Amino acid sequence: MNLYTEKDVDPQALKGARIAVLGYGSQGRAHALNLADSGFDVVVGVREGGKGWAKATADGLQCAEPAEAVRGADLVAMLVPDMAQPEVFSAVAGNMRADAALLFAHGFNVHYGQITPPEGMDVILVAPKGPGDLVRRQYEQGRGVPCLMAVAQDASGNASAKALGYAHGIGGTRGGVMETTFKEETETDLFGEQAVLCGGATELVVRGFETLVDAGYQPEVAYFECMHELKLIVDLLHEGGIRKMHEFISETATYGDLTRGKRVIDESAAERMREVLQDIQDGTFARQWIDENAKGLPEYKKMLQADFDHQIETVGERLRSRMSWLHEESDKGKKSSEAA
Ligand code: NAD
Ligand code: MG
Repeated sequence: MNLYTEKDVDPQALKGARIAVLGYGSQGRAHALNLADSGFDVVVGVREGGKGWAKATADGLQCAEPAEAVRGADLVAMLVPDMAQPEVFSAVAGNMRADAALLFAHGFNVHYGQITPPEGMDVILVAPKGPGDLVRRQYEQGRGVPCLMAVAQDASGNASAKALGYAHGIGGTRGGVMETTFKEETETDLFGEQAVLCGGATELVVRGFETLVDAGYQPEVAYFECMHELKLIVDLLHEGGIRKMHEFISETATYGDLTRGKRVIDESAAERMREVLQDIQDGTFARQWIDENAKGLPEYKKMLQADFDHQIETVGERLRSRMSWLHEESDKGKKSSEAA
């Protein structure tokens, strides 16, 4: 495995580069501000009159309509939502330099053939392994979120050095930059968010909550047990792996973990994880998501509303309102659904 740090950066690769960052959401804002602070000539591509434009201007950045922002840029970072990228690329491609580098933070559209950049362009990926607000916050603190980097097309012969230069510009080399491929980044990223991080973790929490409530326990107690306390465990895992968790939890909790955990997440759960991965690998998931998006998200909206309407949300909202300090940090990086 190749893990790059500051010392591997070629300072010539992106020297004096003009970088157009398209989109000013979670990643776009973090990348644009970090790159500008790192000394790059940054222009943000957003729609005039949109929220992104107002926000980027207030942050002191230069703004232009996406199709104008890309003119003359050495590197164009595609940081609008994945489902909007094909349309945005069509709108800007004609104005891009034929030898520009096109950068993604997730490989979805290149890997699944939704965007096919012209042969003369470098096509690169820098994917921070964390949400945008953290990418910004850690940079400001002199730290950096680790990144993955990859090259799909190396027209200049220098694509890899450009990707690493960009990762360095957003602070990624401080945490370490790992080399991967568009295929590996796309498939593992989708699997992680579906089976473990977002889909898996929330279903585990909700099913645990329901089990306790159905058995007659107070919903508030079930909430604290299954949702609130999860952060303590996740923090321990994040800092020091499974060993650190066991060093901090009680012996009784460790024994319960060792004897009961595998009963809940058993071989049948592992089998369904492999099915989920299969859907990602053979393109079933991508097709389904692209179709759903094209239809205007009818099922997506219904299922999301059902999540919001669950008892764990009403109970949780009431309990969390007593703990105002919970909101302060992470709300800054909230995904903006509004258009630029
Ligand atoms: P986002 O939803 O937070 O923001 C996208 C921004 O794009 C909006 O704020 C808006 O400024 C603009 N926009 C939206 N629709 C547009 C349109 N039709 N035309 C022009 N501009 C439009 O997006 P994000 O979560 O930052 O995702 C951007 C990329 O980064 C995606 O490829 C995503 O997979 C990747 N990524 C995201 C995260 C994350 O934590 N959010 C982490 C790693 C990689
Ligand atoms: Mg992801």
